[in-house]
Amino acid sequence: MTSYTGTFEPIDRIVIVGGGTAGWLSAAYLNQALKGSVHITVVESDAIGPIGVGEATIPSLRLTMGFLGFRDSDWMPEVGATYKSAIKFVNWCTCGPGGATHEYWHPFISRPEPSVLPYHCPFAMGIGQRVSLLHYALKHRLDGESRAIQQMLLPTQSLCEQHKAPINPLMPELSQEYAYHLDVTRLGEFLRQVATKRGVKRVVGHVTNVEHGGNGFITAVETKQENRLSADLFIDCTGFRGLLLNDALGEGIPIFGMQLLTRPTSQIHSIANSSSSRATFRFLTT
Ligand SMILES: Cc1cc2nc3c(=O)[nH]c(=O)nc-3n(C[C@H](O)[C@H](O)[C@H](O)COP(=O)(O)OP(=O)(O)OC[C@H]3O[C@@H](n4cnc5c(N)ncnc54)[C@H](O)[C@@H]3O)c2cc1C
Repeated sequence: MTSYTGTFEPIDRIVIVGGGTAGWLSAAYLNQALKGSVHITVVESDAIGPIGVGEATIPSLRLTMGFLGFRDSDWMPEVGATYKSAIKFVNWCTCGPGGATHEYWHPFISRPEPSVLPYHCPFAMGIGQRVSLLHYALKHRLDGESRAIQQMLLPTQSLCEQHKAPINPLMPELSQEYAYHLDVTRLGEFLRQVATKRGVKRVVGHVTNVEHGGNGFITAVETKQENRLSADLFIDCTGFRGLLLNDALGEGIPIFGMQLLTRPTSQIHSIANSSSSRATFRFLTT
């Protein structure tokens, strides 16, 4: 990691390299957060397009789009988005009763109650001392209840099975937590229009050279089209490539493979092909 001793100047110019979802989301967000006080430029390659897959989101995108000033009805139709209330895992374990198909619905929940202290556990985190719904459900599980906690406490699974939306426009307070599934290419285009209309500059060009200052920091990037873009802050949004982080700075991307409960397909194939294994593997993704 690059270490630096010296004075820090205020940031006046930001260059974001990469014009996929990450690039345009960062540009629109920073422009909004900094109230247009900083010059932001996004440079995107004319040779490599955005990856354009998926995409399943998590609920926080709702807050982000809200921060940018959009209600669901403003942006969802523009990017082919639909609501995503939960993730259904089918046969990820073999613990169904009597070997039956096992299903698990992972809901997007905000806890349906304030965190409360269990009685006689003053050391636990919580607010107030009442009967907790979660503790109530947990007690039932310990007493032999077979339904998962979210089935006992939340309407999400039932809504999903009935193909109902998580929102109630007439009574928003009854709406459930949700995320989205959307066309990521269209989301990128939507955010690009938003950001450029609000003052973010767009440069189309393939970055071929990264300049470093004496302290090792990046000072400018150059495109094949001979555009030189200098800035006080560079943000790497070049996707898996990591043009600035990997190639130019050699920082690398932390690998969390050891923590994942899934394996890359290549590993699955090698396990499945090994003579010592009779298990059948399927590639699982959300
Ligand atoms: C099969 C698959 C499924 C996925 N599903 C999901 C999902 O469901 N949910 C999820 O959150 N994520 C998913 N992902 C991860 C997905 O890659 C990211 O979420 C996101 O779409 C990547 O966007 P990005 O902007 O980081 O990168 P990209 O979309 O790859 O954009 C990279 C940008 O960098 C630019 N660029 C690259 N090199 C240069 C250069 N030299 N000069 C200038 N510009 C350059 C390109 O032009 C492009 O604009 C999935 C990935 C894969 C492969």
